[in-house]
Amino acid sequence: MNNDHPPIRPPSEAHSTLLRITEGCSYNGCTFCPAYKNIPFTIRSAKQIKQTLLSIASVHRASKRLFLCDGDALTVPQDRLTETMAMIHQILPEVKSIRTYANAKSVSTKSDEQLRTLRQDGLKVVHMGLESGDDVTLKRLNKWGTAQEIITQAKRLRQVRIKLFVTVLLGAGGTQRSDQHARFTADALSQIDPEYIGALTLMPYRGTPLYEQCANGTFTLPSPKALLGELKTVLENLTLSRGLFFANHASNYLPLNVRLPGGKDQALKLIEHALGDQSALKPEWMRGL
Ligand code: SF4
Repeated sequence: MNNDHPPIRPPSEAHSTLLRITEGCSYNGCTFCPAYKNIPFTIRSAKQIKQTLLSIASVHRASKRLFLCDGDALTVPQDRLTETMAMIHQILPEVKSIRTYANAKSVSTKSDEQLRTLRQDGLKVVHMGLESGDDVTLKRLNKWGTAQEIITQAKRLRQVRIKLFVTVLLGAGGTQRSDQHARFTADALSQIDPEYIGALTLMPYRGTPLYEQCANGTFTLPSPKALLGELKTVLENLTLSRGLFFANHASNYLPLNVRLPGGKDQALKLIEHALGDQSALKPEWMRGL
């Protein structure tokens, strides 16, 4: 693993073996994202990947789960991905489940047959950022695609039985689009019907365009109470056949872990309580990464 910039992985992949097959993000355009700003996108060679796998195998037994880093591994051409999957299984036979981040843009470059092959090769979970179901908000965030385009790509993954962890960003619509952002996000999530949802709270990071927008007053983050209201609207309007809804990220004011559909009423009661008694909210100094 290149230590010049530490790997970024979802909190739920804390116990996964990490394998960097790309560096950076090929899109690298989202206004809120500080992750790979000064890192040119490159695809690591088969030789580099093999060396990394051999060094992992030489020092410890890998986890059953392996997470492909960096930003969007599905950008890698299909033949290179197939070769990488084969090397993983050959050198680390203990790996049973491969996971990765993928944005809708990179999924759109794969045919259904290619996605099916990736699933057969062991790709079991994709983490995808929807951020918002509101097109106006998506455009302001400079995300790739409209909500419908992201929904379409997410559903293609589900159709080939790749599980989805979809993240959304409370506050992404600012004060201007707060209500639309929450309602349209619930609608988009209901259409995708993923196995896992992670609701994070938008935090403007220095060096990002969003930070500048906050500084010059063109974007205003909703208040903690309004953010909680967004969380309530998303949950109230969300219809999942079966899934887990996590709002326990370090950025959130009220940590929640909800099994849907059964746990919805209890979660809404907790949010109602916190809306009436804001001492239940995480203090500002405890938020962050
Ligand atoms: S696609 Fe993901 S990694 Fe790339 S800029 Fe957007 S949020 Fe960041």
